[in-house]
Amino acid sequence: MKLAVVGASGRMGLAVVRLAVDSGDVSIVGAADAPGSAHLGRDAGEIAGVGHVGTVLTSELDDALLGAEVCIDFTAKAATPRIATAVARAKVAWVCGTTGLDAAEQAKLDEAAKVVPVLHAANMSLGVQVLAEIVREAVKKLGSAFDVEIVEAHHKKKADAPSGTAKRLADAVKEGRSGLREVNGRAGLVGARKDDELAILAIRGGDVIGDHTVHLLGDGERLELTHRATSRDLFARGALRAARFLVGKPAGRYGIPDVLA
Ligand code: NAD
Repeated sequence: MKLAVVGASGRMGLAVVRLAVDSGDVSIVGAADAPGSAHLGRDAGEIAGVGHVGTVLTSELDDALLGAEVCIDFTAKAATPRIATAVARAKVAWVCGTTGLDAAEQAKLDEAAKVVPVLHAANMSLGVQVLAEIVREAVKKLGSAFDVEIVEAHHKKKADAPSGTAKRLADAVKEGRSGLREVNGRAGLVGARKDDELAILAIRGGDVIGDHTVHLLGDGERLELTHRATSRDLFARGALRAARFLVGKPAGRYGIPDVLA
């Protein structure tokens, strides 16, 4: 697989480069990062600590995509429109792991998906996909006698809140029970909890890679369904699996359930 990594010197990009090299069957043909990156001009493998791969980190996205079949992008929401245009122009499949995308940025993914296959997932792990399925079924079975709330924890450098995974889990809750209204945090004299509330609370600190707990709170009993990521490699592995899946697929939008089907 001929891979371009966008955001190649970021936390996730480094893990993608390392695991791609370890896999033995992926060539890193391009590596891009933001114009201000301190690592521009250096070998992508050396930055990731896996030795020379012969691909230099560039801020020129078009150059990084040259010759690639697929790109993996863990960057920032502001980068999404530019990446969308570039992958469509270069006809390169796009695995987008960047979170916090708004409607306009999602529309850019849709535009690119008219030309190339595009897979966006706020969480690339198999475990979170299964958790979402379990949550949907649990909410359906427990019914309106149980209140549902989501608590997520991440490292202190995370830019967006609540996490994309928390929103994904909120969607799963809403698939299981209609009429719920998302609430982001609580402060002040908010009064008693309303029956239609579905609160998401975000904790930030330390080096937490990503914890998510869906609380199902009933009278006299409660369930806590938790996923804990203990290594970024989990997401990088998932992104590489998604990239392998996407190569050769028709243009369109895809998700992790398609990869696992
Ligand atoms: P990071 O800040 O460590 O890395 C981001 C990298 O992207 C940096 O090197 C930055 O310079 C680069 N970048 C920013 N703008 C760019 C641009 N215009 N062109 C090219 N490169 C650009 O962040 P991170 O922890 O690696 O996370 C990156 C994103 O991935 C975040 O949105 C995060 O929430 C998300 N994430 C998703 C998953 C998942 O499973 N989907 C898992 C972890 C993180």
